[in-house]
Amino acid sequence: MAYDDNNIFAKILRGEIPCKKVYEDDYALAFHDINPQAPVHVLVIPKGAYVGMADFAANAPTALISGFMQAVGKVAAEVGVVEEGYRLIANDGPNSHQEVPHLHFHILGGKRVGPLLD
Ligand code: 5GP
Repeated sequence: MAYDDNNIFAKILRGEIPCKKVYEDDYALAFHDINPQAPVHVLVIPKGAYVGMADFAANAPTALISGFMQAVGKVAAEVGVVEEGYRLIANDGPNSHQEVPHLHFHILGGKRVGPLLD
């Protein structure tokens, strides 16, 4: 799927719409989900125009891939979910119910969750 520059997370990255920021560095931005599904629900997005993981892995610079993955771990630590555990999800493509076509990882924590698939 071609990247849509007008998706909501692209607008958040450009500062055109606000977010409740948790973390930012050269590679990633993390912010609270607008419709949280758990006591902690944070989204981490790479700073680049990638719809999904295959595109990201194939086309992003190595520094961005590693920086993004490091950011995911840093954010999990920063929001305090590492010790009790958390779920890390990336919905990717039509079968996954991905709503926003910019690669993002959900960090869900603060409660014990059920089986992965409903
Ligand atoms: P997906 O279904 O694509 O994996 O998840 C998209 C997530 O983005 C959803 O959990 C949804 O609540 C969240 N979301 C959609 N629009 C906005 C927004 O404008 N701001 C924030 N912070 N989250 C959003």
